[in-house]
Amino acid sequence: MPAKIIDGKKIAEKILNGLKSKIKSMKEKPGLAIVLVGDNPASEIYVSSKEKTFKEVEGYCERHNLDKDVSEMDLLNLVTKLNNNPKVHGILVQLPLPKHINEHLITNSILPHKDVDGFTSVNLGHLMSGNTILAPATARAVLNLIESTGIEIEGKNAVVVGRSNIVGKPVAIMLLEKNATVAVCHSKTKNIAEHTKKADILVAAAGKPKLITREMVKEGAVVIDVGINRVNGKIVGDVDFENVKEIAGYITPVPGGVGPITIAMLMENTLKAMELAKKGI
Ligand code: NAP
Repeated sequence: MPAKIIDGKKIAEKILNGLKSKIKSMKEKPGLAIVLVGDNPASEIYVSSKEKTFKEVEGYCERHNLDKDVSEMDLLNLVTKLNNNPKVHGILVQLPLPKHINEHLITNSILPHKDVDGFTSVNLGHLMSGNTILAPATARAVLNLIESTGIEIEGKNAVVVGRSNIVGKPVAIMLLEKNATVAVCHSKTKNIAEHTKKADILVAAAGKPKLITREMVKEGAVVIDVGINRVNGKIVGDVDFENVKEIAGYITPVPGGVGPITIAMLMENTLKAMELAKKGI
């Protein structure tokens, strides 16, 4: 039987509607500042989509476009200004940054309680120790999609393909927190299929089109495709969707799977950041 397609758009819509009515009733609105450096077309699309969604849920959103040649010092100064702005509860610096700027330094210049991307070492450390404060939105989206299927994560074999600090590693840690048995594959893994075939839950986050083929997937598995790749002008994931859907139990499409939920999780994180600010954390 072909897999059930997990409709990320529909799930995101429900979350965003909930957020919208919550924000409507608030006197002070959650505020997000988005910083975009340079003119990377993919980043421009992601940023515009986040800005549009945030305005739709009636939050306060300000966008800062900086020239690709901006100095590290000027960027640091902007982050400091945003850290000190009480209207701004969440700060997002869109990655990747131009080569002359130290990404780690900039990311970690954001105050942890305003770090709605959950990328600072402090927030990743909290995640590692099981005391999550603000977790990376994409990893939260992956967990949300898995949970939307109603399957029990505890005791399942989960395989994550990709080990970046912003997607693969946080997803693996969150699955571990939910008592899955987790394996992480990467570009140096020998015979990835040997691992993926054992996965009840398979998360693909490598950024390689059609990396996951039907032969690599266990029958009935939940397959979450995080990848965003441009092939001949089309957006595709890391999973060979047409063939894998014939064997998986559940599968996310690209586009329309992880992407929309990631934005919804970012909005949730901003609301949480606002609550943290109120508590003086
Ligand atoms: P990244 O930093 O480039 O990391 C990619 C990871 O995949 C690395 O750990 C790499 O291994 C591994 N990898 C690469 N080729 C592989 C292969 N052939 N076999 C096994 N592993 C391989 O990328 P990222 O930021 O984590 O993003 C991953 C994908 O998710 C990208 O397509 C990105 O566009 C997408 N993404 C989507 C969303 C969303 O909202 N939907 C959000 C963020 C990212 P090594 O560590 O050994 O190099």
